Amino acid sequence: MSFRTFVRRTVLGVALAGASIIASSAAAQVPGVPTIPGMPGATPTIPGIPPGMPGGPPTSPIPGLPPGAIPSIPPPGGTPAIPNIPGMPGFKLFSPTGALLMPVMKDEAKKIYQKEIDSLSASRKATVEKIPLLFEDNKEEINAFAGCDDTGKTFVVVTAGMYQMLDLMAQTRATDETFGTGYYDEYIKELAKQQEGKAKILPLPPGMLDLTKSLDQRKLKRQRQLFDESIAYVLGHELAHHYMGHLGSVCTGGGGGKINPGDIIRFAKKVVPAVNQANEIQSDVEGVNNLLTAGQNESEYKWSEGGALLVIDFFKKLRDLHPGAPLFTFMMTHPAPEVRAPVVKNTANWWRLTHPGAVTGNGNSAPSSTPKLPVPGLPGVPGVPSGAPGMPSVPGLPVPGVPGK
Ligand SMILES: [Zn+2]
Repeated sequence: MSFRTFVRRTVLGVALAGASIIASSAAAQVPGVPTIPGMPGATPTIPGIPPGMPGGPPTSPIPGLPPGAIPSIPPPGGTPAIPNIPGMPGFKLFSPTGALLMPVMKDEAKKIYQKEIDSLSASRKATVEKIPLLFEDNKEEINAFAGCDDTGKTFVVVTAGMYQMLDLMAQTRATDETFGTGYYDEYIKELAKQQEGKAKILPLPPGMLDLTKSLDQRKLKRQRQLFDESIAYVLGHELAHHYMGHLGSVCTGGGGGKINPGDIIRFAKKVVPAVNQANEIQSDVEGVNNLLTAGQNESEYKWSEGGALLVIDFFKKLRDLHPGAPLFTFMMTHPAPEVRAPVVKNTANWWRLTHPGAVTGNGNSAPSSTPKLPVPGLPGVPGVPSGAPGMPSVPGLPVPGVPGK
């Protein structure tokens, strides 16, 4: 879908209806539909009684919650950390249960993508500045990749499923950091249990929809930071595939690639010998450098590698909890977490060493449970393992973003 189409659809309100798996999977969470899982049901109202009076309708948009229990979400345009969405007055950032709305995530990703391009060196910027960020409206596919269409024109694409997965990571982790809960691990356990046949994404279990937590301003703010630095990692990695020339001779048509319905499955099914692990690691190194550098221009929270480590940790736990379960496409098209985590950490540490005085993140954004594995370094290239030891070769997997190969 083009940006213009996206804007048009959003203005028509279509996008709101399908805003997130949270909002769409449970009618209770769509504004105006008066039940919330785990919340008391709506009290029948007597016609003619004004809102808020006994027997009348509640003044809160969510029955069962007293008015004022839901913290106000800053209106678009007001707060520097929460930029407005041009042309969408009154547009909300979060669903009634505290999920980031899909149009917001897409808009945020577009801005971050541009910021990352703008912070590249002039020569790299020239290589990628005409490459569009595409959106694939597919909640089944959890994937992001750099590629080109059948005419060789290049793009970066992120699926709706990937955005939702990143937000679910951000929601649970932000709640844990704010309230000391264990939602992140609980959610992965639930998700792992249910991976049979085809990898699938799940909404948060009702027990995690405690609105006093999920709508807490501190949690929402932290959720947005985690989402931003996670998508910055994903986008920075995919951009690097382009400017590092990893896509080879197939993708030489210049920027402006398009994806038609069904293409994403077709591309993902292209079977090739294996993911090019060295290129993947190089893209992680470049992508992390790019996201940390671009993050320094943020007015408030300077992006850290915490989002990257969150993404890596999430997929590692999911795999470990259910070995042999079907994998999300993103897991198949990227190296093993054991390889990626130390590369990301070493790159970020090296970046900080070479940028004295730079502050990144808030000091506690990295998941503490991410494995700390020693990685032998290549001279001059921080975090790049020589010969990529321990990297599993996975036969029969597609190379992301190289259609036709
Ligand atoms: Zn990659």
